[in-house]
Amino acid sequence: LGALREGEVVDLRALAEDRGDTLPEDLLGLIELGEDGLRLVRALLARVQDARLPDGILRPVDQVEVLAPLDPPRGNVVAIGRNYAEHARESARARGEEVTRPTVFTKALTSINGPYGNVTIDPAVTTQVDWEAELGVVIGRRGVNIARDRWRDHVFGYTVVNDVSARDIQFGWGGQFFKGKSLDGFCPIGPWIVTADEIDDPQNLHISCRINGETKQDASTADMIFPVDQLVSDLSLGMTLLPGTLVATGTPEGVGFARSPQEFLQPGDVMETEIEGIGLLRNRIVRR
Ligand code: ZN
Repeated sequence: LGALREGEVVDLRALAEDRGDTLPEDLLGLIELGEDGLRLVRALLARVQDARLPDGILRPVDQVEVLAPLDPPRGNVVAIGRNYAEHARESARARGEEVTRPTVFTKALTSINGPYGNVTIDPAVTTQVDWEAELGVVIGRRGVNIARDRWRDHVFGYTVVNDVSARDIQFGWGGQFFKGKSLDGFCPIGPWIVTADEIDDPQNLHISCRINGETKQDASTADMIFPVDQLVSDLSLGMTLLPGTLVATGTPEGVGFARSPQEFLQPGDVMETEIEGIGLLRNRIVRR
């Protein structure tokens, strides 16, 4: 459990221990402490500046192995389909369907991958692996039937997600997305979670995906059909959202299967997923 500040990682547990406090082992534990947890972290960080710290509490981020911030998150990853107008249209075109409502589906917890982890493709399982850059919203406070204007009370923060998708399985296995979205390692997240107080407006962030340096997706979260406040409210309708649940809010236009001709990820490709104000995922595609 660490905090990132200006290129350095603060080892929060070591810092807490040095001050006679305790913090949980990981971010999920911190989220579950609610406001008390964040208050303690802020108090600890405020003292970093003037304190003389024992060795090892501050480390350059490039000397730390950055893992998925939630591994696993709480519950399946909740994902939204067709939440950007252009992507909804391109998907409908590619599948010969009309756009009606957003699709809600989930990804298995075993699909979680680190921000710089390899995405392994087994050609015996799938030959149509595609990218989907998405804004991830991390739920902070438990809630059901959350009013749209209370959404901020329930959001802990934001992260970058790539909802990697096996299209042949997604569209070929009997009308559900779960399997094709859930292959091992098909959900890189991170590199960290930016707490909600650091992002005033999640609907004004540049979001992009590059394959081997070539831009494939380049959009703004302003183009979401269902913005984060509505997603939190709609998802919680009759269904409790738990602290630590990750919501992948849908991808903009530019995915591979909707291109002409279609493009899919190949071993050796490097997939970069970036959201302004949050960070960058860099995942290499490898063959099993
Ligand atoms: Zn998606």
